[in-house]
Amino acid sequence: MNDDHAVVLGAGIAGLIAATVLAEHYALVTVVERDQLPDNPVDRRGVPQGRHLHSLLSRGSQIMEELHPGFLAELVEAGALVLDDPDMRRIYSRIGRYTFNRTDSAADPAALTTYLASRPFLEFHLRRRVQALSNVAFLDGHDVGELVSSQPHRITGVTVSARDSTSFDTLCADLVVDATGRATRTPLLLDRLGFPRPAERTFTADGLYYSQQIEIPDQDNFLERLVLVLPEGKAQRGGLMACEDNTWTLTIAGRAGDLTHTPADFADMLTLAQDFIPPHIRPALHGANPVTEVQAYRYPGGTWRRYDRLAHLPEGLLVLGDALCSLDPINGQGMTMATLHATTLRDQIRRTNQIDPQAFYAAIAGITKPVWASNAQPPSGRDNTSSSPLSGRAIAWTRRKILEAATDDMVVTERLMRVANFIDPPQCLVAPGFLTHVAAHHIRSSLTGRRGAPAYHH
Ligand SMILES: Cc1cc2nc3c(=O)[nH]c(=O)nc-3n(C[C@H](O)[C@H](O)[C@H](O)COP(=O)(O)OP(=O)(O)OC[C@H]3O[C@@H](n4cnc5c(N)ncnc54)[C@H](O)[C@@H]3O)c2cc1C
Repeated sequence: MNDDHAVVLGAGIAGLIAATVLAEHYALVTVVERDQLPDNPVDRRGVPQGRHLHSLLSRGSQIMEELHPGFLAELVEAGALVLDDPDMRRIYSRIGRYTFNRTDSAADPAALTTYLASRPFLEFHLRRRVQALSNVAFLDGHDVGELVSSQPHRITGVTVSARDSTSFDTLCADLVVDATGRATRTPLLLDRLGFPRPAERTFTADGLYYSQQIEIPDQDNFLERLVLVLPEGKAQRGGLMACEDNTWTLTIAGRAGDLTHTPADFADMLTLAQDFIPPHIRPALHGANPVTEVQAYRYPGGTWRRYDRLAHLPEGLLVLGDALCSLDPINGQGMTMATLHATTLRDQIRRTNQIDPQAFYAAIAGITKPVWASNAQPPSGRDNTSSSPLSGRAIAWTRRKILEAATDDMVVTERLMRVANFIDPPQCLVAPGFLTHVAAHHIRSSLTGRRGAPAYHH
């Protein structure tokens, strides 16, 4: 521990996790947050996406537990659900027409344990843990103004102002960490100080999200607690997730122009959900009661700010979480990526006892590259295979064969789930042993006359 002061901008998931790892090394960590932070798990203005389905990948929950031992048990004690069945029967995943196998047991179900809770609930419990750290202080109700640079090539602080005031105070800092999410102003603020702005990589998603919190009185008539459906073509996608206190989040996701209508109430939500909710759950869903209004969120696309490509980075400043790279929400990776950013930072500090922005961004770029590639590729329904190169068609064909096999082969399902949950790297899906297994599955299926995939499997 040194005598230094770190300032974290933003108290979302990325800011909270960053503050946790910095508290190991800095004498004082101040978290500046624009919202007045509530002392209960409720939505807040600064995190409008919090009203939409937020599933935490297994790797993300494991890292949260590593950083705050006992955290997951505390979540469950407070009302979160834990899904840890060997056959994963309470999770229904479908990609296009391929529904993952749920009749056999996984070899290592513990690695895929999934914790379900709403985003405000998760953030609230994480915040309580961070607030309990003796060297972390929260300055909520304060807006970030400008970055301050009173030494050459170095950020030395940040100006902040109380939300009801027009005057700014300067917080001097040895390290400023921007975790303000997609609305990050760091590129602009660097520009104002004469530093170069990072180049941006983007992809267009044209995503629209509509969500509603509901209660399902007949929730015991079906087993599933997490339903996630990714699209093929123009079909609706979305999810249904059980949260704390017997509430559920129903989310309809679509691309602008693809939704048949804009849902205004629960009846509209039900109509759109028909496309992806498995038939055996629909009767219970029809008897559900809405607890909130329909909330909308527009997601234009992803942005990766390439700080790793900047030749001259100022010292004393890091950017992480969505402020560094925002991904397509449909993949549910943002919170877990934020935990990986923070543990990368922790590992660097532990190893070298200092912060090296260049090395930090280089390490993050290595983690981000494959995730970004899978986010930025065109959705399956828009993939123009006729003009794609042979390798693109070969990849699409292999992907389809893997998904087809996953419908009744738990080894394949488990491998896909491990990669989707960031337990294993994506390269595991092209490992020769695994591809041989998939090929053997198809040979067996053709010999026994069993081909294709049922649209629903329950
Ligand atoms: C519709 C939708 C669904 C999603 N679903 C999932 C999911 O299922 N799983 C998943 O892992 N991720 C999901 N995500 C992504 C996830 O929300 C983020 O990746 C994750 O929360 C990390 O965000 P963050 O902490 O970097 O930023 P945020 O959560 O956006 O937090 C930024 C914080 O900074 C504060 N702030 C902003 N500007 C200022 C300022 N000038 N001064 C002071 N404070 C400021 C804000 O008030 C806020 O508290 C979803 C996103 C969307 C949009």
